[in-house]
Amino acid sequence: MRVVLMGPPGAGKGTQAVIVAQHLAVPHVSTGDILRANVAGGTPLGLEAQKYMDAGEYVPASITNGMVRDRLAEPDAAVGFLLDGYPRTLAQVDELTGMLAERGVALDTVVELTVDTDEVVGRLVKRAAEQGRSDDTGAVIRRRQEIFADQTAPLTAVYAQQGLLVRVDGMGSVEDVTARLLAALGA
Ligand code: AMP
Repeated sequence: MRVVLMGPPGAGKGTQAVIVAQHLAVPHVSTGDILRANVAGGTPLGLEAQKYMDAGEYVPASITNGMVRDRLAEPDAAVGFLLDGYPRTLAQVDELTGMLAERGVALDTVVELTVDTDEVVGRLVKRAAEQGRSDDTGAVIRRRQEIFADQTAPLTAVYAQQGLLVRVDGMGSVEDVTARLLAALGA
């Protein structure tokens, strides 16, 4: 099963993606996690990406597209994947469609987790305190929401048009949201 999980920063995507991927028995592919691992490891890619991440900006396509292409080419992704944090722009939508088409496959479902913005910002502030993420400060949180609304929210219209989009209410307990996601995915 090839699934994309979308939703604004703080919608609980990462948490849900880990659980849902396990249920579907597919790898959880998070571009944010891969980027953070590169930052932590001090790789050239990480050093380049960090300045964008710290500002809440999207890292350049020259970094993300190759990263996703390489990850999806790994053997464990042959059975499917749950993509978290990619695509985030219309250009990335086309990139992803192309990468999959080269292998004669396509997405099965795009799930959008919907939440209310106040709740989202509250969660991000809490996460900043718990995890000390350098991109979870007040100004950066607002910037990330803005960029999401501007660049990523429009993707749902594209996927809706392709008949791939399912919307799932992201409010409530982790367990409730997981149950809704699995139901939406028929898992
Ligand atoms: P996330 O953990 O998904 O919220 O991603 C954290 C940060 O990594 C984002 O704020 C961006 O700076 C960067 N990032 C992750 N995925 C992408 C992507 N698909 N395109 C551009 N930047 C990304």
